[in-house]
Order: sequence, then C-alpha cells, then structure tokens
Amino acid sequence: MVLEHADARVLVASEREVPIALPGEVLVRVRACGVCRTDLHLLDGDLPAVELPIVPGHEVVGVVEVVGDGVTGLRVGDRVGIPWLGYTCRACAYCTSGRENLCRGARFTGYHMDGGFAEYAVADADYTFLLPDGYTDAEAAPLLCAGLIGYRAYRMTGEAVRLGLYGFGAAAHIIAQVAVHQKRAVYAFTSPGDESAQAFARSLGCAWAGASTEAPPVPLDAAIIFAPAGHLVTEALSRLAPGGSVVCAGIHMSDVPSFPYHQLWEERVIRSVANLTRDDAREFLALAPDVPVKTHVQTYPLADANRAIADLRDGRVEGAAVLTL
Ligand SMILES: [Zn+2]
Ligand SMILES: [Zn+2]
Repeated sequence: MVLEHADARVLVASEREVPIALPGEVLVRVRACGVCRTDLHLLDGDLPAVELPIVPGHEVVGVVEVVGDGVTGLRVGDRVGIPWLGYTCRACAYCTSGRENLCRGARFTGYHMDGGFAEYAVADADYTFLLPDGYTDAEAAPLLCAGLIGYRAYRMTGEAVRLGLYGFGAAAHIIAQVAVHQKRAVYAFTSPGDESAQAFARSLGCAWAGASTEAPPVPLDAAIIFAPAGHLVTEALSRLAPGGSVVCAGIHMSDVPSFPYHQLWEERVIRSVANLTRDDAREFLALAPDVPVKTHVQTYPLADANRAIADLRDGRVEGAAVLTL
C-alpha cells in the first residue's frame, strides 16, 4: 500500500518486485504492521517532504526470509521487528554521544525507506530487533513505535510519581501499564466525552481518567502529550506541580498557544522527544514481557489500510490499529 504523491491523502495498492537484501540487510516477510499517528501526518503532508512514492509503516513484524552478506546477528526464520529508526551515520556528534535519535543523517522506516504496509520489507540488520515471545504478530506490532517512543517519552519524566497522559491511544495504553507496574499513579486525559477511552484507561490501572479540560485530583509531577493538539501543552502545564515537566511525544502538533510566564515559573519544563535510539529499543523490548505489557489491537487486512487510517483519525480505535497479512 503506497503513498504515491504528496496530496494523495490515501494509499493505493501496488504490485512490485520483492525487494532484495543488500549486504548488511535482511529481507523480512511481513506478518503485521501497526498504523501510527505519524502515518497520518505523512499522508496529510504535515511532515517535511520526502521522496515519493513510499510504502509507509514503521511497526513492522515479520520473519527473516533472506539474510544479506555480512549479517551476523540474525538468521533465516527469526521473528523480528523493524522500527522507525532505520539508519544512522554512527559518526556524528549525536551518534557518538548516545543520541543517535538526533542524527542529522538518520533515515526513518516508512518515510525515507519503504516500510511495512507490504508483504515484504528490507531493513538494515543493525536496526532490526528480535521480538519477545508471548505476543502474537499483531500484538507485537504496537510495541515498535507506540511502545518504543512512548517509553522514551516516559523515561524523560524521570522519577515522576503522579503522571498524566494526554491522549489515550496506542502509546498511552502501553505506557500506562509500564507506569502502573513501576508504582506510579497514572492520570489519563481523553477528549471530552470519550467515556469509552476513560473506562479503558481505568481498566488498565489508571488512578483517574477524565477529560483533557478537567483538573486532575492532584497536581502532576509530569505529563506526556501523545495527542497532536498544541493547546494540550499549556493545559498540561497548568496542571503541573513545581519542578514538573511536560513531554511532547508526537512528531507533529498544532501550534502551542502562548501562556503567562508564571505557568512555567518554579522550574517547570516543556520538552519534546524525537525518534528513538537502538538502546531504547533493546531496553523496552526486554521490559515489555516483564511488566507484562498487554497490547490491545484492532486488526485489519493490509488491503484495508485506508479504513484503518480513517478509524485512527476518527478515534474509533481502542488501543492500536494493526494491519495483518
Ligand atoms: Zn510511529
Ligand atoms: Zn549520526
């Protein structure tokens, strides 16, 4: 399923040759691929333009079918995941200081290189990960972006005990489980009136769930914004205790409104989180089965990718949308 040109807004089915694994790469037979909000931003033209056509999809689960020359860590038959981070230069100041997520030469799956909305994908073996057992292919898919980048955002909240999550979709439903497991109190904020998302949040152990316009029962030590709405940044900031932080986890957001300085005063922080490092991937994929994180997925056949995207856009997905093959 391909995005052909910048104003297409929908994916079209396309027949292509099976790609070839070059040295250092693996060819993966795709079994499932998650649909992420970033895919919506790509379709909507919200992200910096890239070369098209492109096959989106960066929560790719599949089985290694061909191993390119020089690959040592993976074998034919391994079940692997391919995440958003597809390549880094390994030489720049970011790459050599543990911040490869910020590499200027980074390339991202389903954006700069074809992703997993397809029967086959090739990936650099060094950016491809063995997946934990105990998850079906569809259940494993959301771990690869909602989980990995959600977890990076969660780590940026430090020792926060009272944690707010704004936007209770794929990432929040995973991170809520990690946070509850680590004895944090989680406050889930949804669109006003979204009772089912609030009930879903409570069912996962959240201490409180309500509308994003509501005040939580206690001031928050930190909040993560997963929804792409800039006004939530100032909304969340107003709910923070002194020293608290707002972490913006999405790749794109509408403009953040201005706000009086006293809301930031007392060492409150607003920051974003960009992409992931391979260390984030290794750490989270080891942690998930320990929690254990259970992902809730709504599956769609690959050919119904546009329906999955529409459901995600309109808030009709509980947990994560996943394409299956
Ligand atoms: Zn994503
Ligand atoms: Zn680099």
